[in-house]
Amino acid sequence: MRTDYEYIVLGLGGLGSGAAYWLSRTAGRDLLGLEQFELGHVRGESQDHSRIIRLSYHTPGYVQLAKRAYQSWGMVEADARESLILQTGGLDLAPRNSRIPLDPYIASLTAEGVAFEHLEATEIMRRWPQFTLTDDCHGLYQEQGGLAMAARANAAHQRLAREHGALLLDGVPVTSVRSVDGEVEVVAGRPYRCRKLVVAAGPWSATVLSMLGLSLPLEVTQEQVTYYATPHLREFQPDRFPVWIWMDDPCFYGFPVFGEPATKIAQDAGGRPVTADSRSFTPDPDNSARVEAWTRRYLPRALGPVHLTKTCLYTLTPDRDFVIDQLPGEPNIVVAIGAGHAFKFASVIGRILSELAIDGRTPSDIGPFAIGRPILQEADPSRSYMV
Ligand SMILES: Cc1cc2nc3c(=O)[nH]c(=O)nc-3n(C[C@H](O)[C@H](O)[C@H](O)COP(=O)(O)OP(=O)(O)OC[C@H]3O[C@@H](n4cnc5c(N)ncnc54)[C@H](O)[C@@H]3O)c2cc1C
Repeated sequence: MRTDYEYIVLGLGGLGSGAAYWLSRTAGRDLLGLEQFELGHVRGESQDHSRIIRLSYHTPGYVQLAKRAYQSWGMVEADARESLILQTGGLDLAPRNSRIPLDPYIASLTAEGVAFEHLEATEIMRRWPQFTLTDDCHGLYQEQGGLAMAARANAAHQRLAREHGALLLDGVPVTSVRSVDGEVEVVAGRPYRCRKLVVAAGPWSATVLSMLGLSLPLEVTQEQVTYYATPHLREFQPDRFPVWIWMDDPCFYGFPVFGEPATKIAQDAGGRPVTADSRSFTPDPDNSARVEAWTRRYLPRALGPVHLTKTCLYTLTPDRDFVIDQLPGEPNIVVAIGAGHAFKFASVIGRILSELAIDGRTPSDIGPFAIGRPILQEADPSRSYMV
């Protein structure tokens, strides 16, 4: 059995599968992927029918990254010969005095030349009568918003990586990582060696980083999404209803009918702190009650009997910005942490990780995602998850 590779990817969730795909385009058989559970498992962050994708972000840098995300998904779709993105339009809604003001989003889209519409409540309800808003609400509509077909996209990244020659192993937990003679040794049952290691361990990031003597102030939370069996299914089809985000604290978001005969609605960053190993799969009734109360008030016809509630994990940095970087003092190891909003970027982050591993640099601006940024050096930083 071969144990020596040019590249190893540790963790084959959303980001690691993206990295495996982009690395495999260059490395082919010189790439090994290691996943502790079965491919497509539901213990991490990346497995559901859908995740929101949007250009609408609060800084020009994120808008630039989102543009490259769409371009990268387009390349994967062409390679996979299947659709992975569904454009539905995206609506950011907020009361005028909300905790997440729309102004930075408007400024960032404008700076990046992205077309959008700024709509008053009456116009929003004229176009989408499913909403019952008050007059003080406004919204930002961006037509390229939509959903990434998460589980299908992960499977496509994995399948294509294998077609390009990569070996992806599942059921192989990595228990040790260390630098040896300018290379990296990774133990997963047996020792493997590589020139460059990509770490995409999601909610297990702290455990893997601790193998390298590193600690970051990450918080893992148990989140949940609920599918409601609305009796008004036709009103919430993707050609009639957009993805949407309620930009306030608490922040809610939702989807048209996709993957289940139901709408999908959730609170962002509404979960309690857990660890990846101690988390439960039981929905939190308080979280469910908050989502249902908001929906009853603002989107009542989306409600129906609970079809399904799924739990899932976020790995949050204190500023909610990603980590995408080479490790300090370990240039042969690159790492990405998704901060609870990375699925839309899964392919482009995988691409950036592959660029860092192969060339040591990337055309994307990853300065804001540096592992050495001051807030990540604090033991107990103030946390702000509302972006
Ligand atoms: C409910 C919910 C809704 C979300 N909504 C959105 C959204 O609408 N839009 C959006 O862009 N993002 C969204 N996100 C965030 C996004 O899904 C995550 O940021 C992204 O999926 C993170 O992927 P990951 O690869 O970092 O983590 P994961 O998918 O968890 O992958 C990490 C993998 O590493 C493996 N691993 C860890 N340690 C080891 C080890 N020692 N050995 C071997 N394997 C290991 C794990 O088993 C796992 O498979 C949402 C997340 C949740 C939970």
